[in-house]
Amino acid sequence: MGKTIYLKFILAYVIFGLLSFTTIATLTSSLTLRHLTNAKADALYREATLVSRNYASSFYTNNMSTESVQNQLKAIDTYVSAPIWIIDSSGEVLFNSRKDMDPEAPLFIEDFDPAITRNYYITGNFFGKFDKEMLSVFSPINSGFNIKGYVIIHTSMEEILTSRDKILNISYITLFIIFILSLIILVVFTDTVFLPIKKITVATEEFAAGNMEYPLDIHKDDEIGYLAASLTYMATEIARTEDNQKKFIANVSHDFRSPLTSIKGYLEAMLDGTIPPELNEKYLKILLNETDRLNKLTSSLLALNNLNIKGMVLDKIDFDIHSVIKHTAETFEGTCTAKRISIELILTGDTLYVFADMGQIQQVLYNLLDNAIKFSPDNSSIIIETTEKNDKIFISVKDSGIGIPKDDLKLIWDRFYKSDSSRGKDKKGTGLGLSITKEIIQAHNENINVISTEGVGSEFLFTLPKSKKNGT
Ligand code: ADP
Repeated sequence: MGKTIYLKFILAYVIFGLLSFTTIATLTSSLTLRHLTNAKADALYREATLVSRNYASSFYTNNMSTESVQNQLKAIDTYVSAPIWIIDSSGEVLFNSRKDMDPEAPLFIEDFDPAITRNYYITGNFFGKFDKEMLSVFSPINSGFNIKGYVIIHTSMEEILTSRDKILNISYITLFIIFILSLIILVVFTDTVFLPIKKITVATEEFAAGNMEYPLDIHKDDEIGYLAASLTYMATEIARTEDNQKKFIANVSHDFRSPLTSIKGYLEAMLDGTIPPELNEKYLKILLNETDRLNKLTSSLLALNNLNIKGMVLDKIDFDIHSVIKHTAETFEGTCTAKRISIELILTGDTLYVFADMGQIQQVLYNLLDNAIKFSPDNSSIIIETTEKNDKIFISVKDSGIGIPKDDLKLIWDRFYKSDSSRGKDKKGTGLGLSITKEIIQAHNENINVISTEGVGSEFLFTLPKSKKNGT
């Protein structure tokens, strides 16, 4: 692809050169010739008019033989170095400054058409009277309202053509220099577009082949540099996703395998009598626990998958967040009583409407409250608080539990992440709750954050859009 762009560019460059050359050879050439011819014709026309005015009387009287007049005209011929003719309107040559006319053998210009004198000059061999190209300039000799004849000054076109060729040569040299200078564009194009595109092509091939670490060393502050940076970013993101996927599968496999291994172990022990039948009940309860864990893991994975598949499609409605908070808190009543944990609700107003997907937000509150209870010591309290700010509702779930180590704060949102300290306390946790929570909040284009101090407690705070229903 790069090659063709380059070839196209060079082709365009060559075409530009050829067209410029042709333009000079045709348009510039004819314009220059016209200009030079006009200028010369103007100069000769002034002389011709001078002659027709000053010597008019001699022409009327046909007194062209007067020596003094002839000498005058010859002097003008020498001055302008061009032959001067005087013809009458019928085309008879009355005077030729370069040749004495014989009255016995008058010279006629056949086919002389006075219409040609409408333009004050013509070029050519003047009705076949010259064997090379001439510029012939006319000035009419008037008597009253009649044209008696014409003063014609002829000059060779050779001089004009030579001048034109000299000017054209200057143009060709200038064009050649411009053509060479425009090579700079080719160099700049090669450096800024062609070579970087070539590098980018190689890099994308490497990325496609799976080598995401391939260095794309284009450090330019332009569109190409931006493209290269975007591609590098894309490659690192793909690599990261691949990495996450691998980790995800490893985690899923591990989380499924450990309960299955223990179930298998207990069942074998029960079958071969290692576990005496009177202890069966105790071990069956453990087995039930393990199957619960598998069940929870499967449900969470399905929930995550659904979120990913559905993407941003949410069933948003206006609902009272306070009643959802109260209902969710009630579902934990049993656990809280057992641990003697109290849930304190600090709610702004009786009702507070938000515009969101109610089912998903219920899931968020459930996950946060579940974690808060799991990681809180007995006899502690959990505070759920709502506040209103501009068009947002802030919901916070705060506990006085074990807290989250500083280094873990960023990681808790990752799938399957469980901090080391929580492993002992929470054997059933899947490490998926917070990643589901974050996906839901992000799908609403809202934010969720955590503030936590190890040994002191944690506060999870998220926002929801306020419903227009409030205050009505
Ligand atoms: P799980 O289902 O295992 O609780 P989560 O994704 O909900 O998974 O949480 C991930 C990890 O974040 C937990 O294992 C725990 O280490 C930490 N965590 C979450 N909530 C709290 C909390 N309220 N107090 C302390 N640690 C927490």
